[in-house]
Amino acid sequence: MANLTDSFGRSIDYVRVSVTDRCDLRCCYCMPKQFHDFHEPEEWLNFDEIERVLAAFARLGTQRIRLTGGEPLVRKDLPQLAQRLSALPGVEDLSLSTNATHLDRHATALRAAGISRLNISLDSLNADTFRQITGGRLEKVLNGIMAAREAGFRPIKINMVPMRGVNDHEVEDMVHFCIEHQLTLRFIETMPVGDAGRSATESYIDLSEIRKKLEQKFELIPGVMPGGGPARYLQVAGTKINIGFITPISQHFCATCNRVRLSVDGTLFTCLGQEHHVALRPLLRAGISDRELEHTIVAAIRMKPERHEFNESPEKVLRFMSYTGG
Ligand code: SAM
Ligand code: SF4
Repeated sequence: MANLTDSFGRSIDYVRVSVTDRCDLRCCYCMPKQFHDFHEPEEWLNFDEIERVLAAFARLGTQRIRLTGGEPLVRKDLPQLAQRLSALPGVEDLSLSTNATHLDRHATALRAAGISRLNISLDSLNADTFRQITGGRLEKVLNGIMAAREAGFRPIKINMVPMRGVNDHEVEDMVHFCIEHQLTLRFIETMPVGDAGRSATESYIDLSEIRKKLEQKFELIPGVMPGGGPARYLQVAGTKINIGFITPISQHFCATCNRVRLSVDGTLFTCLGQEHHVALRPLLRAGISDRELEHTIVAAIRMKPERHEFNESPEKVLRFMSYTGG
């Protein structure tokens, strides 16, 4: 039973946790190429603190947690944290967002630690384009995806941010790749989050355009995926493959938002596109009781804003996606 309800009547039962703001890639829409201004380790919530905050959320009815970042797999001992979080009473679904560059080494341990669902970023199937977008090696990511399949993760969702003139010519190839490897494919519209996100909106594509393009090549029928997220799904007829469209810009889904985000330094953000937040780390380190922690969370949720304003005020969100947790 979700006890966390905001002032617009939305039940909040999903927390995304940025376990690190660091990353081994530099996706053009997420982090500037030369960016190194990361939080220092003493500013990060430690595993005990993360567990404590999420245990409080779980007592308040949160059933679903996603580990994200930055790149979660660059945080040491992530499977240990996953094990602790999946064991929390009330937590039914622990998932991970990753760029998969280190997944081949960690897939089995993460699966054993209780992570069941994976989202993997993959913006191109061409090694040169992949390097141009991310600065990294495509081969490592493909190895990671195959290791995840072997380790038994289901579903595995591929996240692609289509960008005009960069990778938009690859959307059909990506559908074929996902059919071949039985992966769910999701397209995401570029959001003006942080400087990198704002610059990347120059190549923004409204996903209705991508949908029309795909409809000329594939028969798309209404599809459903479990997960309660913002994606609207279509299934490729004759296959089990679903394609999701995440449209924060062209058709926002704030009325059904069910989530909040815990940043790497323990700040609770109640909207990806607004600055409303409560700094939990100083409270944790000052000895807040469990009861006070729960009250603080309930009060923060009551202040959750109605919606983002990416279209009206694209300059608003200065913080990087990796800090808040994408
Ligand atoms: N490093 C992991 C990864 O890449 O999957 C997890 C963190 S990443 C911030 C989570 C998701 O946010 C990725 O799918 C990425 O494509 C997406 N993302 C990052 N910046 C974005 C932006 N400005 N607009 C849209 N999506 C963005
Ligand atoms: Fe790293 Fe993920 Fe951001 Fe790419 S999207 S730079 S992989 S955190």
